[in-house]
Amino acid sequence: MNHPMTRRDEIAAGLAETEQRIAAACEAAGRSRDELTLIVVTKTHPASDVDLLAELGVTDVGENRHPEAQLKMDELRAMEADHGVSLTRCHFLGGLQTNKAAAVARYADMVHSVDRVKLANSLARGAEAAGRTLPCLIQVDFDATDPGRSGVIPTGIPELADAIAASEHLSLGGLMTVAPLGEDPVPHFEHLVRLSAELRAEHPDATIVSAGMSADLEAAIAAGATHLRIGRSVLGLRASTR
Ligand SMILES: *Cc1c(COP(=O)(O)O)cnc(C)c1O
Repeated sequence: MNHPMTRRDEIAAGLAETEQRIAAACEAAGRSRDELTLIVVTKTHPASDVDLLAELGVTDVGENRHPEAQLKMDELRAMEADHGVSLTRCHFLGGLQTNKAAAVARYADMVHSVDRVKLANSLARGAEAAGRTLPCLIQVDFDATDPGRSGVIPTGIPELADAIAASEHLSLGGLMTVAPLGEDPVPHFEHLVRLSAELRAEHPDATIVSAGMSADLEAAIAAGATHLRIGRSVLGLRASTR
């Protein structure tokens, strides 16, 4: 007997495998699964996958490009209206141009990639126009060799943190990083967690540490991450490499 796998089966299997990795890493680090939020990164995948994820209990999804994210969230909200429930939260993770910030501030439930005061100001104006308060994370860059990368260098954190915290329409959630490609992620995640402790001395509510992708979630959990951003390990390979 050969039952073809449905997309739902595939996603359920990827999710179960990922949850096993998370459970093993929590056990090894002496941490509880409750301390972690799993964000499934749905970029390049259709809104129907986000809908299936919600059925399987995943309520936080990540997107890295506008307008792909907006189109998908519009489609998802229509599906949710049909079911009569709306549970999914959208995390925006990508590099963001100032002129797209207002649109993102309307549909994103958290922006992980704030890396300059100008962007924070644009997000604040968008959030104000939409009548909401937008939680923001500061993206930290540890790769000094590649100036094109998103993220602020560690010495830039305090100024940006104060700008976000001072805005009536933004709230400062914490820090995020993407480990530099091809390097051991452990020292970078440990550095991020130390920076998070420094940040919390000034901003006690900024408790989020967003770190860990499919390739390095164990290192992130060991270091003390609170939010994991996992794409391929749950949803399989993307058509493109981003
Ligand atoms: C794509 C992406 C992820 C997820 O990467 P995977 O390797 O698929 O787990 C996490 N964070 C950001 C910022 C991303 O762009």
